[in-house]
Amino acid sequence: MKTYIVDIDGTICTHDNRTAPYDEARPIKARIEFFNKLYEAGHTIIYWTARGSYSGVDYSELTKKQLDEWGVKRTDLRLGKPSYDYWIDDRAHNVEDFFMVDTETGETETITL
Ligand SMILES: [Mg+2]
Repeated sequence: MKTYIVDIDGTICTHDNRTAPYDEARPIKARIEFFNKLYEAGHTIIYWTARGSYSGVDYSELTKKQLDEWGVKRTDLRLGKPSYDYWIDDRAHNVEDFFMVDTETGETETITL
């Protein structure tokens, strides 16, 4: 079994732009389904967000409500991820690379872990 640390904004949900409020986020259902399947298979899925880390606003209730409404299965939801510009990590994957989309068929593949 593996442990997955998964970001929220821009990863399992999308926004009109980078300054759009969090409560206007829209779920990316295929990605949520992907991680739900991993969860159901017994893997540890931890969602970790930097919501509020820069502003100091507590987004925990809103975020929990959104994940519940979107049907996000999880081991844990954690806030408090630092606000950052670059994440340098030998085990990290960029989400757009992780969910490779075939532009001709619309099929989504994931990289092999
Ligand atoms: Mg993000």
